[in-house]
Amino acid sequence: MIKDFLKPSSTDEALKMKKENKNSLYLGGGTKLNNGGKNYKADVYISLEDLQLNGIGKMGDKIKIGSMETLQNIIDSPFIHEFLKTSALGESNRNIRNISTIGGEIAASESWSTTLAGLMAMEAEVETAEEGIFSVDEYVKKGKDSLILNIYLPEITSTLYRNDQRVTANSRPEVTVAVSIGKSGETIEKAVLVLGGVAKTPVRLMPIEEMLLKGELKSADAVQDAVMDEIVQYTENREKGTYLNYISGVLVADCVGRCMR
Ligand SMILES: Cc1cc2nc3c(=O)[nH]c(=O)nc-3n(C[C@H](O)[C@H](O)[C@H](O)COP(=O)(O)OP(=O)(O)OC[C@H]3O[C@@H](n4cnc5c(N)ncnc54)[C@H](O)[C@@H]3O)c2cc1C
Repeated sequence: MIKDFLKPSSTDEALKMKKENKNSLYLGGGTKLNNGGKNYKADVYISLEDLQLNGIGKMGDKIKIGSMETLQNIIDSPFIHEFLKTSALGESNRNIRNISTIGGEIAASESWSTTLAGLMAMEAEVETAEEGIFSVDEYVKKGKDSLILNIYLPEITSTLYRNDQRVTANSRPEVTVAVSIGKSGETIEKAVLVLGGVAKTPVRLMPIEEMLLKGELKSADAVQDAVMDEIVQYTENREKGTYLNYISGVLVADCVGRCMR
């Protein structure tokens, strides 16, 4: 049960409150924290509302997004690449997107998050109060809980494509895929493959990225097969060809193929 609701007016104050209150959580939009109390248990919420973590704009060749910007503001912003807008549009509905923040989305690290998979494929970075700037991928992979201040999107030079598999149009994705491929002629010079829905958080398929860079995967079937092998560790009964394993392979191969074309 929440016993205290704190409203710091500076980052330093927020960090101090977090340190002093062992069982506390930062509150972004609250769509997750205030949702029926499942998963999250805290005595104290530390609201980020007054920290002035808003704003979307250009900073050199990057785009800077304040962590308290809502997903809907990101979709509506002229500064944001179409790929991230489409990724964020995959989240639930407009009412939720009007409240949920990009910082909360990253910190919640939900495996099916289309926004998170999109950010990881774009190789976005987070700026945290405690640890400075590092990749969104690292934040998620290491299960960090440092205070996210800003998100930086690099200039996009690759081709990006995303897709997901849902039971119905509005249900949350079972599998979500985001791919970025940089080519010079027919040679792949950069590959970022992100798969959500199979592990606890979205994961980068680094062994498959390496195979693509080495030119070892020459067809869609080869990509699909390699992905299915790679994710056996996460899938039902650790068996190749089960539903999530197969769908993941198909979706990743499709996204890679579309980026290549
Ligand atoms: C009806 C409904 C549908 C939903 N559908 C989806 C969906 O389709 N896809 C999806 O991914 N999620 C979905 N969610 C979950 C939720 O909306 C997202 O995880 C959301 O983006 C969280 O953002 P928030 O700002 O509301 O976070 P909050 O609920 O405020 O916080 C979530 C977590 O992030 C932490 N946090 C918040 N801001 C920061 C920060 N700046 N720095 C560090 N930590 C921070 C909090 O401490 C907490 O651990 C849904 C929720 C609801 C209620």
